[in-house]
Amino acid sequence: MQKALISLGSNLGESLLTIENALNEIAKLEGVRLLARSALYQTKPWGFSEQNDFINALCEIETSLSPLKLLEALQGLEQKFFRVRSENHYGPRTLDLDIIDFQELILDDPKLTLPHPRAKLRAFVLKPLVDLKGDYTFANGDKALSLLQALPSSELEGIKKL
Ligand code: ATP
Ligand code: CA
Ligand code: CA
Repeated sequence: MQKALISLGSNLGESLLTIENALNEIAKLEGVRLLARSALYQTKPWGFSEQNDFINALCEIETSLSPLKLLEALQGLEQKFFRVRSENHYGPRTLDLDIIDFQELILDDPKLTLPHPRAKLRAFVLKPLVDLKGDYTFANGDKALSLLQALPSSELEGIKKL
């Protein structure tokens, strides 16, 4: 069994409900067991601000799936929640599921980069990560808490725990 961290985000439709339902669906995936989940966070949009706030959360799972099979399963869930891909890359979406870490693996596959390359810049990933695993260290030795404390204040002010 391997451990992985999954970041959840939604800013279209009933986002609170979507994230809660998505956590339940992740727990029900074959070959996946939910170990822990964070609180919900409300976050100012990242990269493109003319849209609704995001609801974000993070969970830790144990899985027998390979990293790419887990990605496929999560993309299947995104489809199930009717994710609409807009023209703007950072635009609104019903559900976004990103693999932040998979068993501290470093991977550079065209479909999957591990750890998630932008996780370290995002309060909405680092905050729930520190909640769940206070001393979490990325595969390259970066500590989640230090990364969080080093973020610009604008990034830290844009997030609140619900
Ligand atoms: P960002 O990656 O900056 O959070 P995004 O989540 O909006 O942006 P998407 O459009 O959801 O990006 O995903 C684009 C592609 O990224 C996916 O089809 C997937 O193949 C790839 N990808 C690469 N690494 C990862 C990862 N660690 N987790 C999820 N998807 C990944
Ligand atoms: Ca994302
Ligand atoms: Ca994504």
